[in-house]
Amino acid sequence: MHCPFCGETDTKVIDSRLVASGSQVRRRRECLSCHERFTTFESAELLMPKIIKQNGSREPFDEEKLRNGFARALEKRPVSVENMEASINKVKHYLQALGEREVTSLVIGERVMDELRLLDQVAYVRFASVYRSFQDLSEFQQEIDRLQQDHN
Ligand SMILES: [Zn+2]
Repeated sequence: MHCPFCGETDTKVIDSRLVASGSQVRRRRECLSCHERFTTFESAELLMPKIIKQNGSREPFDEEKLRNGFARALEKRPVSVENMEASINKVKHYLQALGEREVTSLVIGERVMDELRLLDQVAYVRFASVYRSFQDLSEFQQEIDRLQQDHN
């Protein structure tokens, strides 16, 4: 960390403490050259990546869109709102943990399918049939057969 006063590269941490309920570290530093003191704050950056759509355009991550996707697939299915929200959080956490600035919408779609599969098989097939836009009925049947095998 460069000294903001003289530009020296060697600075020494003289005090370090957690602030903002532990989500930030406040560091008091002293420049080894001019001996000025200054403070830095450090916090984890948990930003949502931008979404790269199929046509190549970018858009900000939209939690409402994600929630709508889940809600549509889970309509009239015996899955509690709590469980749905937990799955949405898992998808968000996954995206944050990737640490990428941009991810393709495919990455999210696959992740949503993984979560729906755990929540409810019917919801999963609903989502997958739209998302993967099965070419024909036999492909759709294959997916259902595969699910039944997994289930047994
Ligand atoms: Zn300095």
